[in-house]
Parts: sequence; structure tokens; C-alpha cells
Amino acid sequence: MPQEQEHEKMEKNELAVAVEEATAAIAGEMAEWYMQHPQANLSEIEQQVLRARKRFGEQLMHTVLAKRGTEREVPGPSCSECGAEMHYKGQKKRRVVSSIGETPMERGYYYCSKCKRSIFPPG
Ligand SMILES: [Zn+2]
Repeated sequence: MPQEQEHEKMEKNELAVAVEEATAAIAGEMAEWYMQHPQANLSEIEQQVLRARKRFGEQLMHTVLAKRGTEREVPGPSCSECGAEMHYKGQKKRRVVSSIGETPMERGYYYCSKCKRSIFPPG
């Protein structure tokens, strides 16, 4: 197998493992809650499942975004002001708001030395 394909396959597996870990953690919490509340009624179980679903969504979003955040664009994006290639300046914390909720994540950001502006690439 060519090395590039091998590399891509490994990254996919890393993400799959991270997603499985998140799934197992939420499922484990749910099972533990049920052990402690064997007499829970339908509406209590429903509430618990809804909370677990929300946390799972947030966790999944965070896991996938964290993975994307470590990928660097090469070459850097073009500056929308002057068109020059922007340079990678490192990772910065930011919060991403989506229908899932707010997800804290690290994102690579880029700087144009001519215009002295920095951006997070879209997406
Ligand atoms: Zn510029």
C-alpha cells in the first residue's frame, strides 16, 4: 500500500478510536446512573437519556473539531486584503457555536505580515 494511503487510514482510525471512547464514556455513565436508580420511572429515564444525548453530541463535536484543528493548510490561505499567502501562527482557543451547543476547541490561525491581520480559516 502506498504510504499516503496508509497515513490517511491511520488518521481515520485515530478519529474512530476517539469517537468510540466518547461513546463508551457516555454509555458507561448512563449504565452507572441506571444502577444507582433502578426504580427510575419512564420520565426520569427519558431526562437522563436526553442529557446523555446532549453530552454525547457535544463530546462528538469536540472530538471531531479537535482533530480538524490540528490539520494545517499548506500552503496557508490567501489574505483577503492583499492576496499574499498567510502564515501559520499556532493554535488558539476559540469557541465554536453550532446547533449542538458551544464547543471549546483549539484552532490553527494564520497571519498576514503586510496587513497585520490574523484569521481562522473558515470551515
Ligand atoms: Zn494581507
